[in-house]
Amino acid sequence: MRRLKSTLDRIDRKGYGAYKDLQGSHDLGEFTLYIDRVQRDPFAPPSLVRVRTSENRFDPALFENPVRRVAFEDFLTREVARAVRDTVRGNRGSGGSGRVEIQRPSQVVLPRTSMVVAEDYVEARMAVGLPAQGRSVDARAARAVLLEELPEVVRRGLTPAGVDQGKARLHVETVEDTDHLRRLLPGLGLVAFVADGSVLPRESGASDLPLGEGAVPFESPAEFRVRVELPNRGEVSGMGIPEGVTLVAGGGFHGKSTLLSALAWGVYDHVPGDGRELVVARPDAVKIRAEDGRSVAGVDISAMIGDLPGSKPTREFSTPNASGSTSQAANIAEALEVGTTLLLVDEDTSATNFMIRDERMRELVRKEPISPFIELVRPLYETLGVSTVVVVGGVGDYLDVADRVILLEDYAAHDATGRAAEVREKFPGLAPPGPGKLRPPAPRRALPASIDLRRGKRETARGRGLHAIELGRERVDLAYLEQLAEPGQTEAVARIIGGFAGGRSGRPAYEIPASALADIAENGLDTLGGYRGHPGELSLPRAQEIAAALNRVRSLRVEPD
Ligand code: ADP
Ligand code: MG
Repeated sequence: MRRLKSTLDRIDRKGYGAYKDLQGSHDLGEFTLYIDRVQRDPFAPPSLVRVRTSENRFDPALFENPVRRVAFEDFLTREVARAVRDTVRGNRGSGGSGRVEIQRPSQVVLPRTSMVVAEDYVEARMAVGLPAQGRSVDARAARAVLLEELPEVVRRGLTPAGVDQGKARLHVETVEDTDHLRRLLPGLGLVAFVADGSVLPRESGASDLPLGEGAVPFESPAEFRVRVELPNRGEVSGMGIPEGVTLVAGGGFHGKSTLLSALAWGVYDHVPGDGRELVVARPDAVKIRAEDGRSVAGVDISAMIGDLPGSKPTREFSTPNASGSTSQAANIAEALEVGTTLLLVDEDTSATNFMIRDERMRELVRKEPISPFIELVRPLYETLGVSTVVVVGGVGDYLDVADRVILLEDYAAHDATGRAAEVREKFPGLAPPGPGKLRPPAPRRALPASIDLRRGKRETARGRGLHAIELGRERVDLAYLEQLAEPGQTEAVARIIGGFAGGRSGRPAYEIPASALADIAENGLDTLGGYRGHPGELSLPRAQEIAAALNRVRSLRVEPD
């Protein structure tokens, strides 16, 4: 502490670069402050610091297994964020002077680099804007931030005295229940589960918080009701969605897309109070949508799309500019390639000609390369074991291929499977036979040399907010990855792809995310790099999003495996 004070006294009013002398570790009694990286000037991204308490006095039950540990780390990150809001004044001079930040978690609970709970310490990784007047060191303000505010943040956010133990227990137990519930799905023959009482609608199209007033809690139709036993909450009932083909039907604005979206987010655990804590889906579920304009690199879409004009091969389909239907076919093939057991498809975000082709169009248009999804959805399940939940408001032909129909009326779910059978008898469809069998897409090897990380004199592979990554001079657009939860995941995805691009040999596309995640599972997210001891702001992505991002790199080249 004395060294920190005397260094600050010595560099007061010097040029900002003098802050470099703070780099290293400082024993502040209750905790150690590590200053890993000092920013270049007050306007640059803030300096990277870690605070590590000298002991961990929290109840060990809060982190006694890996699931609880991740949940507790998530909880503490949110507690530190709260403590920062309550104690840090900020704005102590030019640029980002006096700002204190920690990773801002979304509504989902993820392994992150922001917090480490170890047996004998807890450590928060943060960013601090070292204060300046103009461009010179302001030691007085720095002392206030580092020696008054930061210790207060540690007391309020990282010690048992500062945080609400009951809240911590609820957080950890909720996540444990969700995780347990998701693991029950395969054994029950289910692909998803929505607990009674869940709140699915969100505050707005721009907010992931639960809708407050007017939200109709979910209630399962008796026919689909399943009861499960959870480790903390005990017995819970809700709607089980079995494997196979499930149709979600209903009039416009009756809650179909809201239900499907909740299922898409069901691959993650949610914080208490979110409303979707007990809405789960298979962890590999992928929301599939049309995405015209995206690039596609050597993807086998031949099972879905036959000969294209100009004899473009669809066994290795490449284009810098996919159409609605070919992009949706590529999205499915890529999802199958990386391994999924559940596709989620919403009519709202699908290409009409990918979903269906009616009799009149069959008659008029003879040269149609596309097998519509309605012909694929059963073979997908019967030959590849991949289930689908598809939202349909307008196309009744889907009644012919569904194992069951969930009808939404005024946000309430009903079993309409029986009525659907009556309707089919009354209006028999002329659904043509599908391809019968489907084979998985042919494997590809991605070539690292096709990704150039150079940007001027440096090499870059970094996240740019939630929905873009920058690889060298290319900006990869991830706007349509609907299951990307937070920028920390995007940053991790960028670093993983950067790691692949820096390698020498081509690798099977499915293997790139799998091996990166295996490495992270063994060595932690910190292995993705950063500055000295500070990894930056990272959250764990899924294999599906890593693959999806790689597949959207416009320069990507592949060869058949
Ligand atoms: P659909 O896809 O059937 O047209 P949406 O799912 O888009 O309908 O929902 C329409 C509107 O209703 C949205 O504003 C959504 O937030 C709201 N909503 C959905 N489910 C509920 C619910 N259970 N309670 C209250 N509002 C809901
Ligand atoms: Mg909709």
